[in-house]
Amino acid sequence: MPTTLNTDHFWMPFTANRQFKSKPRLLVAASGMHYTTDDGRQILDGTAGLWCTNAGHCHPKIVEAIQQQAAKMDFAPVFQMGHPLAFEAASALAAIAPEGLNRVFFCNDGSESVDTALKIALAYHRVRGDGLRTRLIGRERGYHGVGFGGIAVGGIAGNRKHFGPTLAGVDHLRHPLDIARNAFSHGLPEHGAEIADEFEQRLLALHDPATVAALIVEPVQGSTGVILPPKGYLQKLRAVCDKYGILLIFDEVITGFGRLGAPFAADYFGVMPDMICCAKGLTNASVPMGAVIVRQDIHDAFMSAAGENAIEFFHGYTYTGHPLAAAAAIATMAVYKSENLFDRAAATAPYFEQAAHSLKGLPFVKDVRNLGLVCGIELEPVAGKPGARAFDAFLKCFWEKGVLIRTTGDIIALSPPLIIEPGQIDQLFTAIGDVLKEQHA
Ligand code: PMP
Repeated sequence: MPTTLNTDHFWMPFTANRQFKSKPRLLVAASGMHYTTDDGRQILDGTAGLWCTNAGHCHPKIVEAIQQQAAKMDFAPVFQMGHPLAFEAASALAAIAPEGLNRVFFCNDGSESVDTALKIALAYHRVRGDGLRTRLIGRERGYHGVGFGGIAVGGIAGNRKHFGPTLAGVDHLRHPLDIARNAFSHGLPEHGAEIADEFEQRLLALHDPATVAALIVEPVQGSTGVILPPKGYLQKLRAVCDKYGILLIFDEVITGFGRLGAPFAADYFGVMPDMICCAKGLTNASVPMGAVIVRQDIHDAFMSAAGENAIEFFHGYTYTGHPLAAAAAIATMAVYKSENLFDRAAATAPYFEQAAHSLKGLPFVKDVRNLGLVCGIELEPVAGKPGARAFDAFLKCFWEKGVLIRTTGDIIALSPPLIIEPGQIDQLFTAIGDVLKEQHA
């Protein structure tokens, strides 16, 4: 640790970092697949930072775009005037978005993209004169960031506990895992339709569906343990939403930008939501930015509403469409395209899958779930110490094996940059396997 580092002032989020003072984990540089620590070690990045540097760290083309823009124009508000980069970034994003989703509202991160989408959904029904639709539905174990909207629709009670009251009128659907236990071990589970039927029944039991504005889901749940949608599940959610006039929002903050080997999970599963929330890979995490990509006619409804339904969508941030972020997003979309990174991820996925599943049968491994370049390795918990084994594996991987993994409860989550090579996949899974064996010894 540099002797001058003063640790008295930075409020370190989350408990894991409180070890920081005695044994700091400091990253000081990054390039491609690797971080460099302050003591000069190279760490293979198995998590793309925080599921976000999909094109690899410090991509030279993205760095150059940001540097040039920083010198040219640092900031311009987009309310009374505008600047071309915001328009260009929106077009670049719309160009890779699923068909029909082609209006983009920019914000600064994933949490804001969720709040923005929820507000669009609520206001959209009012614009159409359907003011009864004021309820929102999320799912148990859903994670949608830390804004007040996100913690309300998110299905993690602990994230809401000390901050109530949050949004009123929110319910959570039962989680597929709890409906069809043991259905989740081999590839995409088969019970999708059955589980989604439960969704419809529960929806009807909870409410008059004509009072529901939107349902928000992560197509693959990331932060709560890489939980894959059973076959047919998302399709059925779409059908139920259509039946009752409910907007379907996909939170693709993790699954967006090639993580599954397609631009978005919507493409991968062939299910079109009405809105997509995204962030992270939007700028390759180089500069913070989030966005909601919206169906054209939802946007148009605001523009064409007249009379008492004509409401302005009064929402926007100082940094909406920030020039540096916009420049970074344009460069990032260009890199994804020129390097064919989404196809590359799809081509790498089978090797990654094989390596992931080779961990099955190792000590403590309860389940391995993966899709594309995302993977969750669920470990047997230590009695009375939730998450302890996975966290210990994280520390050992970092300090002894030189690989960065992520843990969420008893699950090791992996989401490497899309540029990962087979040899690096071997390194990653060998390190995890070795640590598990050592923990057992
Ligand atoms: N939604 C999902 C699905 C996420 O995984 C995250 C962050 N991991 C967020 C929203 C929040 O994004 P941010 O941390 O950028 O606010």
